[in-house]
Amino acid sequence: MLSAVAPRAPYTACMKTLLITGASRGIGAATARLAAHRGYAVGINYIRNAAAADSLVREILAKSGNATAIQADVASETDVTRMFTQFDRAFGTLDALVNNAGIVDQQMRLETMDSARLHRMFTTNVTGSFLCAREAVRRMSTRHGGKGGAIVNISSKAAQLGSPGEYIDYAASKAAIDAMTVGLAKEVADEGIRVNAVRPGIVRTEIHASGGEPHRIERVKYSIPMKRAGEAEEVANAILWLLSDQASYCTGSFIDVSGGR
Ligand code: NAP
Repeated sequence: MLSAVAPRAPYTACMKTLLITGASRGIGAATARLAAHRGYAVGINYIRNAAAADSLVREILAKSGNATAIQADVASETDVTRMFTQFDRAFGTLDALVNNAGIVDQQMRLETMDSARLHRMFTTNVTGSFLCAREAVRRMSTRHGGKGGAIVNISSKAAQLGSPGEYIDYAASKAAIDAMTVGLAKEVADEGIRVNAVRPGIVRTEIHASGGEPHRIERVKYSIPMKRAGEAEEVANAILWLLSDQASYCTGSFIDVSGGR
């Protein structure tokens, strides 16, 4: 369903369009703000927090940007296809996708993880990104009559560090995103689509509270060479660069935004 806040009309055809999954809060919201500032019309996906998504849309519209909020669970194929159809109706074409929606779960060791948790983790973080990438390729690929585009996947330094004692399942889901980035980048490289990824380290968002440790940053920050967490805006800068024409010869590339970790 479309949120209460409608996109600004008329849509100006010279604007590039961007769909960001999980953009109501955290890194996705920072990316939406920066993208709108740079002239993108932005689709702001969320799963539950309509108030946050609508508030962000209002903020962007108030600054003469263009945005619309779209509710969808990226783990649901039905929701994902509906989300892209709503995006098509709002903005016409899709130029860029940021696969950002992602979850952690309560910190625990592997031997206490059950299949329900693993299913939730992998359907959201992996299947969700695959389904959204599929819909984007169907729209962007010159093979399907599209005019090309750019995809940025949000991985994590956890893919390389493994997150022992916290969430190895999450780290493994992000390693899958790294492999998908490499493979899809090669698959669509001569069809006008660039596929890259950003690997954030520890970034100040609400995700740490959802893993059961709201003050995780205070515990781990001294293990980061820069001795501080990153801010969502610092990740957004890397994402926007990879989406931009300045990154025109980059595909299958990764930017670590992790303070040296
Ligand atoms: P966050 O603050 O917890 O925000 C999560 C966002 O994802 C929210 O907008 C949430 O929507 C949305 N979301 C969650 N499940 C969804 C689903 N099934 N379908 C659609 N949207 C969904 O997270 P964050 O820290 O910004 O993380 C963003 C991405 O960066 C994730 O992929 C995460 O793994 C990655 N990352 C984060 C860090 C970090 O330290 N923060 C480090 C490395 C990688 P609602 O508001 O509706 O709940």
